[in-house]
Formats: sequence, structure tokens, C-alpha cells
Amino acid sequence: MEKIQFKTESKRLLDLMINSVYTNREIFLRELISNASDAIDKLYYRSLTDRNVGLSREDFFIKIEVDKENRTLTVIDNGIGMNREELEDNLGTIANSGSLAFMKEHQGVEDIEIIGQFGVGFYSAFMVSKRLTVISRAYGSDEAFQWESEGLDGYTITPASKDSVGTVVILSLKDNTEEENYDEYLDAYRIKSLVKKYSDYIRYPIKMDIEKRRLKEGSKNEYETYIETETLNSMVPIWRRHKNELSDEDYHYFYREKFFDFEDPLWVIHSSTEGKATYNALLFIPARIPFDYYSKKYEKGLQLYSNGVLVMEKCADLLPDHFSFVKGLVDSQDLSLNISREMLQHDRQLKLIAQSLEKKIKSELLNMLKNERETYEKFYKNFGLQLKWGVYNNFGANKEFLKPLLMFYSSLEKKLVTIEEYIGRMKEDQKYIYYACGNNVDSIDRLPQTELVKDKGYEILYLVDDIDEFALKMLHEYDGKEFKSVSSGDLGLETEEEKESAQKQAEDYKEMFSFMKDALNGKVKEVRLSLRLKSHPVCLTTDGALSLEMEKVLNSLPSEHKVRADRILEINANHPIFETLNKLFEEDKDKLKTYTELLYNQAVLIEGLPIEDPVAFSNAICDLMAEKV
Ligand code: ADP
Repeated sequence: MEKIQFKTESKRLLDLMINSVYTNREIFLRELISNASDAIDKLYYRSLTDRNVGLSREDFFIKIEVDKENRTLTVIDNGIGMNREELEDNLGTIANSGSLAFMKEHQGVEDIEIIGQFGVGFYSAFMVSKRLTVISRAYGSDEAFQWESEGLDGYTITPASKDSVGTVVILSLKDNTEEENYDEYLDAYRIKSLVKKYSDYIRYPIKMDIEKRRLKEGSKNEYETYIETETLNSMVPIWRRHKNELSDEDYHYFYREKFFDFEDPLWVIHSSTEGKATYNALLFIPARIPFDYYSKKYEKGLQLYSNGVLVMEKCADLLPDHFSFVKGLVDSQDLSLNISREMLQHDRQLKLIAQSLEKKIKSELLNMLKNERETYEKFYKNFGLQLKWGVYNNFGANKEFLKPLLMFYSSLEKKLVTIEEYIGRMKEDQKYIYYACGNNVDSIDRLPQTELVKDKGYEILYLVDDIDEFALKMLHEYDGKEFKSVSSGDLGLETEEEKESAQKQAEDYKEMFSFMKDALNGKVKEVRLSLRLKSHPVCLTTDGALSLEMEKVLNSLPSEHKVRADRILEINANHPIFETLNKLFEEDKDKLKTYTELLYNQAVLIEGLPIEDPVAFSNAICDLMAEKV
């Protein structure tokens, strides 16, 4: 009989399956069972409105049969079935399958290890079979057809006979080789464990006849075999089962399968709640950042079930933005199945569930922070940014709720610490929570502005992300302690006497500073004597609400409007260069002008900012170097 050719794109996947060295071949059974379950779903939903179906919920089943002699494994269902066209369309091409969509989206990915994670579909049966035979009768038809294929060279479709509606998939297993023993899929216990592992929460019974042994009646040592039909799956969805019955492996497996992750989740939250909102929730915090997480493309949301039936694949209203990294599902009896998306947004019950989930997630995170610090730090490295945005967004509406979850790098502890921990270590005379901003921890650590604060023994929080300072400004204070940038005007470190003597000193140099300010041509608002510098000659600080770091961040945004922080150039009177400046002020004002520019540019560079004219800067230094030694 003439063979019909597979469509090109199907051939690619098929080829991959047949010749695969995929280690996880066993998943083919899961795929066939899922297909069977989907087909039953279709007929079951139909039966709700169509009396002619003549079957009720309990009548549906999936059955697995093994034939050791003929080396076949068969999966039977009494679902909706397929007619001739459907056999042709569905099995002759993979155009509808999730695997093809995946392959298209990730062009060039032909790695079965990856595709396998996303459900490989019907063709996966070719990983273990040399021939596949599908006999199916569609609902509403009294004809049946047989589809058969031995792989790449095409398939045949012929009329067949079948008494009842549904589908039979017969796998003729590959011959055993030295490396591979396909007979394992004829072993009842192996099949049973595969069903348990992959298909336990399929909602219809998966039955199998299992051969058992018992003592013959009246005999003490003679055994007889008998057949017992067992239901292999527990049918209860994992989230409805009791925590005690479930292992980490169960949760992890479920997560990887359902949410397409290659890695186990970092944290699992399984909770059932009764009261104002009654629901079961199974939530996961991923161990890694989804590739599109910090992009506009990422869609937050949880799966929403009503009494075990999926209502919505991604319900965004269940998760606040600051917890958008959470994956998982919620099952509630309080929701109507027929509720529309628009209505759902206003559903009171849904709001209650969302509120309760938000609290639950926070308390789990706090619990992780308290009891599994390392895990929390891992979490925070991935999603801390989102929490900080959460503090800042919506004019700080969620700042109080989120603030105990924040962490920043500590100058003292050399690791991430919470603000509460910082406050716990504050010195008695310490007024402020100090922080410093920069591109990374090392460069902040070298900032001259941190010198004095460190010298006093005070801890400094190092802010390295763009959002950090905005978030702290939004918080303003924590338990009554104000945040203070080490670059801000008054650090609150000096005694009144120190301040007074500084003021006097400043008076003495007033003219020189005013000359220097003019020399900088509007680049700074003021040149001033520094109280915070110890060993460095200069630094830049700012006056007012806008810091240099914020200026950097805001100006990096695509906007016409650029901002500029009020810069102050601080000079260290204890540095030898200060004497030189004074001398030049008396004797050589031109040179003082050059020196002032040099000092300013140095301060700019220390801040990690670009200088306006690097060539002029370089020339000025070279001129200095060329002076007689
Ligand atoms: P997917 O399940 O991802 O769509 P498959 O390759 O596994 O891809 O299956 C292709 C299609 O074949 C299914 O979408 C379904 O329409 C049909 N199909 C597969 N198995 C069955 C079955 N047991 N009963 C009815 N239809 C089936």
C-alpha cells in the first residue's frame, strides 16, 4: 500500500525522536496518557450538554495493556476519538503541537533534552517503538480507521473495525540491543511506577490488569496466578493532596513539568486556607530569573482553578507586581466556572484570595530569611530588584509592607544585610543609616566620601542598583532612623565645636574658594572645605534632593529632559595640596585655575562619571609632568 508522507516540519521532529539519544525516553508514556486524558476531557465536556454521549463521569477511563509475547504496549481511551481527516491532520503533522511551536520560537534548537521539557507529544512513542498503530473511532461516527507508521518513510490510513468510540494506540517496541533493553516497558511494575511518577493526577482512572499470585485454595505450597485490574493513579491533583503525602521530588517534578523550568524551584509554598477566602494554593519561587523577567514581555499571573477545573491559565490579578516572580496555581470552590475575564477582575472573592496570597508570600519570604538565610540571599540576588521597585512604585504605597524584605551590601559585614540588622548594630551616638552609591561594591568601597564614616566605625549600606537610592528616598526612614547618603551635605558626624572651627576656617579661605568656583564656570554650586575627607584631597558631594547617582540614573532614561544635581567640590584642608592651592592663590592665579579644573575632574572620575573634556585633562597633566624635576 502506498505510504503518505509526513509534512516536512514533522519529519524533523520525528527524525529527532527516532534517532534520539535522549536519556529520558520513559516520558513517552506520559505523553500518550495526556493525549488520552485530553480526548476524554473533550468527550466529557460534550456529555454535559449532549445527552447522546450516553456516558457519565465515572464511565471514562484509560487502560494500559502489555503483551509480552508480541512485545506490544497499548494505551486505550474512551475519549472523543479521531475520524479519518483528524488522524491525517493530527498525526501526519505536528503543526498543532506545543513542541513545534517551541521549535519555531527557539529557532535552531534541535536538542531533544530541551524540547523534551516542553512535552514532545505523540511522536515521542517512536523513541521506544519500531511501529505505531492507532485505531480510532470518532464520537458520532460508526466507522473506525487505522493509522500506522514505521517512522520516516510515511504512514498508511486504512478502514478498521472498533466497537466503541475512542482510541487505541499500539506500540510495537523496538528490538533490544546491547545497550538498550526495551522490554522494561512490558514490565507491569515499571509501568506502574511511571504512571505514578508522571501521571498521578490525571483525573480519569488509568487501569491495568496486573498478574498476581496467591496460594491455591486448600493448598499450603501450591500457587496460582490470577488477574486483578488496578487503578494506578491517585487522580487527586497534587495541590489537593496532603503535604504529608508529598515529597520534595513530587513538588519539584510538578513544577518543572507545569511551568517549563529546567531547574527545581528554590522554594515551594503549599497552603490551604479557609475563612474569608477558601482556597488551595501551590506556589513556587523559581531558582533562576526567567529569561524575560525584567522585560515588558514577562507576564505575571497564577493559574486559576475552580474546584479542580482550570478557569484561567494566567490570572494576573492574583499577584501584586512586587511578587510577580511567583509561579503556581490557586484552586478555589468559591469561584464560578463561567465567570468571564472582565467580571473576574471585579470579583470580590478573587480580591480576597489575592490579598491573602500576598500576605502568605511575604510571611514565607520572612520565614526563609529567618531560617534559611542562604536560600534567601539566592532569592534576593534574583528578585530583590523587583522588591526594591515595589517599594518605589505607586508613590510608595507598598513600602511599609515590603521594607523588612530588603537587603543591601554592608561595609561591615561584607555581605547582604537587612535594614533591621543594620539598626540593631547602630552605635549609640549614631543618628543616621548611612549609605553610599556606585556601580559596584569595590568602587564604592574606595569612595573618599566613605572614609570618615567608616573611620567612626559606622556601617555603610552600599547601593549598587539604579533603583536603590530611589527606594531608600521613598522610605525616608526606618524605625525612626533617617537614611543619609555619605555624599550629602551634612553627615551629622561633627560636634558643635568642630562645626564652628570649620566655619571659621572656611571664612579664612572664602576668597580662594570663590575664585575656584568661578574658575569652574558654573560646574559647581560651591567649593567648600571638607569635613568628611581624611586622606583624599577632593570629592564631589551634592546639595538638595537630587544626588549624583540619581542624576546618572535619570539621565540614562530615554527622555529629552536632562537633570543636573547641585555639585559641591569639597577640598581637604589637611592634604598637602591645600597648601599649594593657597600659595598659588597668592602668586599664580592662572595656575590655580588649571589646578582647580584638574581637581574637579579627578573628583568626577572618582564618582564614576565621565569628564567633559578628557583630552584637555590629559594635556594639563602632561604639562605638569613636563615641568622641571
Ligand atoms: P499535542 O498533544 O501537543 O497537540 P500530539 O502530537 O501529542 O500533540 O498530538 C497531536 C494531536 O493528535 C492532539 O492534539 C489530538 O488532537 C490528537 N490526538 C492524539 N492522541 C489522541 C487520542 N488518544 N485521542 C484523540 N485525539 C488524539
